[in-house]
Amino acid sequence: MSKSSIDFRVYAFFCTFAAMKKLYISLSMAFAALTTANAQDQILAASQEIDTTASYNVAAFPIDTIDTEDKYTRIILFENHTWEFLELPRPQIEDEDFSDEWNTDKVHAWKGLSLDSIPDEIDLLLADSIHPYCAPLTGVVRSPYKWRKRRPHRGADLSLKVGTPIRAAFDGKVRVAMKTKQTGGYGNLIVIRHANGLETYYGHLSEHLVKENDLVRAGEVIGLGGNTGRSTGPHLHFETRFMGQAFDPERIFNFQTGELRDSIFTFKKHYLSIYSHYGMSDSESIEANKRKLHVIRSGDTLGALARKYGTTVNNICKLNGFSSKKTLRVGQQIIVR
Ligand SMILES: [Zn+2]
Repeated sequence: MSKSSIDFRVYAFFCTFAAMKKLYISLSMAFAALTTANAQDQILAASQEIDTTASYNVAAFPIDTIDTEDKYTRIILFENHTWEFLELPRPQIEDEDFSDEWNTDKVHAWKGLSLDSIPDEIDLLLADSIHPYCAPLTGVVRSPYKWRKRRPHRGADLSLKVGTPIRAAFDGKVRVAMKTKQTGGYGNLIVIRHANGLETYYGHLSEHLVKENDLVRAGEVIGLGGNTGRSTGPHLHFETRFMGQAFDPERIFNFQTGELRDSIFTFKKHYLSIYSHYGMSDSESIEANKRKLHVIRSGDTLGALARKYGTTVNNICKLNGFSSKKTLRVGQQIIVR
């Protein structure tokens, strides 16, 4: 087995290294306390159970690792004073996936794209045995993808403590690593392009730990959570976009458990409506996609708008979550259908 082909289970094993070290210490203590051949056999069996896939130094326990200049190569030290290189899996990405609309100085790629160029429906492979995934953060979505009072909220908000590690959702390449001043409401922002045209956005960060054009692997810490930009309290604003167009990230992740809804995501164009969200049936989503906004002009009344758009005052109030006594402001956008 070549070093570069050490499989992903070794990587997982490596990630639990600290736990392994503790286990090793307790196993050693147990070893000292027990002297029967039977007990030794049990300990050996336990150690082999932990690491059945590693092809290196099977007789020795790893005790430490040393970073090298290449972030995907580490040196692993064993208790018998030997060492070996450990090759971590590199992102499995084709360059051509990233040539389209690759702008590192614009928050949104594919700007001005006609919706006609987006397929009505397409299957996107999110993860498989060689392409892992990782929820950027787990927790309760405190504000979902929806129309929020005066403006669309095109992501899912997850509460955090400033400094919480934020992880890349999938393997990819960093397209944007911008500071608050350049991004407007997003604060410090990272955007990662993934194979298949999907992009993930990580907003309000306190710190960036990657830069533009870096390749990143799913689960890699790309920044620290914060409260920068248009934010009322520390949280992660997480967006998912296909060809630059946002859809509800809860269609992809169950943020409470950190699991993917499915390894293949069927994107549908009607998901792009701000009124279409996870949990809706297809017909509800298609209906939501037909909703219309009206910008209030001087003299508009709810009754006149209801007549104009073939609906009722009650329906308009329900869609916007206000009462029929609501005072309309000129310039305000309301949902009329
Ligand atoms: Zn948000």
